[in-house]
Amino acid sequence: MAVFVLDKHKQPLMPCTEKRARLLLQRGRAVVVRLAPFTIRLKDRVGGETQPLRLKLDPDSKTTGIALVRETETVDPETGEVERTAHVLWLGELEHRGQAIHKALETRRNFRRSRRYRKTRFRAPRFLNRTRSEGWLPPSLQHRIDTTTSWVTRLQRLAPITAISQERVRFDTQIMQNPEISGVEYQQGTLAGYEVREYLLEKFHRTCAYCGAKDVPLEIEHIVPRSRGGSNRPSNLTLACRPCNRKKADKPIEVFLARKPEVLKRIQAQAKAPLRDAAAVNATRWALFAALKATGLPIETGSGGRTKYNRSRLDIPKTHALDAVCVGQVDQVQNWNRPVLAIQATGRGAYCRTRAFKNGFPRGYLIRHKRVRGFQTDDWVRAEVPKGKKAGIHVGRVAVRATGSFNVQMPGKTLEGISHRYCRLLQRADGYGYAFQPKPQTEIAKWAA
Ligand SMILES: [Zn+2]
Repeated sequence: MAVFVLDKHKQPLMPCTEKRARLLLQRGRAVVVRLAPFTIRLKDRVGGETQPLRLKLDPDSKTTGIALVRETETVDPETGEVERTAHVLWLGELEHRGQAIHKALETRRNFRRSRRYRKTRFRAPRFLNRTRSEGWLPPSLQHRIDTTTSWVTRLQRLAPITAISQERVRFDTQIMQNPEISGVEYQQGTLAGYEVREYLLEKFHRTCAYCGAKDVPLEIEHIVPRSRGGSNRPSNLTLACRPCNRKKADKPIEVFLARKPEVLKRIQAQAKAPLRDAAAVNATRWALFAALKATGLPIETGSGGRTKYNRSRLDIPKTHALDAVCVGQVDQVQNWNRPVLAIQATGRGAYCRTRAFKNGFPRGYLIRHKRVRGFQTDDWVRAEVPKGKKAGIHVGRVAVRATGSFNVQMPGKTLEGISHRYCRLLQRADGYGYAFQPKPQTEIAKWAA
């Protein structure tokens, strides 16, 4: 993982390797600024040469992939084609907490409801006083935009970023409907093929059109078979699981679905209805795009189809961070097999100081102040316990208690009753939890995913 480097006046310089950072620190030329993402500051340098860095984002509902790449362009002297190579410097995966926010608001809503219905009194009717401003998004979705943009500005402070790439739509109808390429091989290999695939996945809700199977490899199917003069146009294509595709073979759809007239009717209607562009654009991604524009950096946008096309062409496994690397125009990728910083949005604690039972009655009260003996819940600490059952060095997040006897949470376990005297602060709580993944964690490759 690259180390972020700041100059004497805290201006970003080019990130360096871990080895170089280690040497700089050993020689006393640098000091540590942050542990995650690891950042050092050079004590004797002001300014320096920088190269173009591109920040790439793949926003998803639960996790956003972030990649920082150094970009080089080579021009083929014969054809004049520009080849773009992305040298991966840093990978991150930002896990959102939309679900937690949704749950918290739901709980508050239920408490409030039950409180107000416990004793009813006359309340004057209210009329049209609940309008929402334009561009309003539910808090759980707004949070996704806020955390992502906050990480963009944060990384801008740590590295000289010159451009941003964002995956904005699922498929690009422009590429798909271009008459020149709609006749081209639709299945594998071409960019148009990947766009068509994403389009069909969206249109048929990621299920087999014939049997409704979900989470199975789906194949592109001709409604009117090629052998009977069917075209490669998206209006003649659907998705089928392998058994259904085999069974149908080159039968006309009317024969294949003779016993299921309602399925036949649905597929024919679905295939003909053009999917609007709006279906490819999700409101959150669009709002994120608008928010990123405020950074003033040039933004390149890509489609999900192109990301998948790049990923399978370059033979890169599917993870959120590596998907981000493949967003937009990429011809070559180097050094993608790198550790990933997993960033989890944890929030900064709750306003609510009353612990409640399930039915809303108070169970106990939390302390009014956040700091205890200089520590605060969620601070990252190193506890060196000299003796006793819990002797040893423990590094993790601290949960403070008024008594000064803290809990230290580490991945998979929690140590209770660690005295504040043994704790040393590593990094202040900033609303995120960090973990290092040694190498990209690959999910089981799913065709329909
Ligand atoms: Zn099927």
